[in-house]
Amino acid sequence: MEYLYDLHVHSSECSKCAHSTLIEMVKAYKDAGYAGFAITNHFLRGYSWIPAEYTWEQKMHCYWDPYIEAKKLADELDIDLLFGIEENYGMGQEVLFYGIDLDFLLANPDMCDIPIEQLCKRVRAYGGFSSHAHPFRDRDYIPKDYKRMDISYLDGLEIYNASNKNPENLQAEELMKEAGLKFTAGSDNHMTWSLERGNVGGLIFDHRIRTSKELCDALKSGEGRLYKKEADR
Ligand SMILES: [Zn+2]
Ligand SMILES: [Zn+2]
Repeated sequence: MEYLYDLHVHSSECSKCAHSTLIEMVKAYKDAGYAGFAITNHFLRGYSWIPAEYTWEQKMHCYWDPYIEAKKLADELDIDLLFGIEENYGMGQEVLFYGIDLDFLLANPDMCDIPIEQLCKRVRAYGGFSSHAHPFRDRDYIPKDYKRMDISYLDGLEIYNASNKNPENLQAEELMKEAGLKFTAGSDNHMTWSLERGNVGGLIFDHRIRTSKELCDALKSGEGRLYKKEADR
């Protein structure tokens, strides 16, 4: 059996650029035959909806509560919904964090202020996993002369992002091999109709990934085969 997981998905409760709710995403991914997906909404330094005047606890509940609500439906539909975030480090450089939860978020109210290497260390100590999202993305909003973040702090690189051009993804795969890092992959979908239009990406595992811990263990051991859009296969 093969089990397909998209590890990069946004929803409208937290991400300003998203157009579907997490509940709608759960239904759409179930209909499309996925075994599961990770919700990785833009975190506080990114393109998020979260009001600046909220307390840290209120802000973290903005991420966690829609997840818990949608997880009930996901459990009913027998699809694995996993929690993550995508934090922005400027110049289009974003990092996906998996394997964290409300306890971690509440215990780390300085996580947006500390250097990336410290956050990666804390996430790793918690059993989590960090991955540079779309490392070679080339878009108008990203200056051409930016300095790449030090990837040696990270656990992995996103070597396939369905919203990137394929040469950008192939460069990311090269860099991952050179740097000896692990990998993740996903669609970066922001609405259900992107999925329906064939914007697909992710990893295929030979077993179910029912929890964030199982996801991080699988990523750390380099499990998973790339699942790409038809045009990129
Ligand atoms: Zn976005
Ligand atoms: Zn994203």
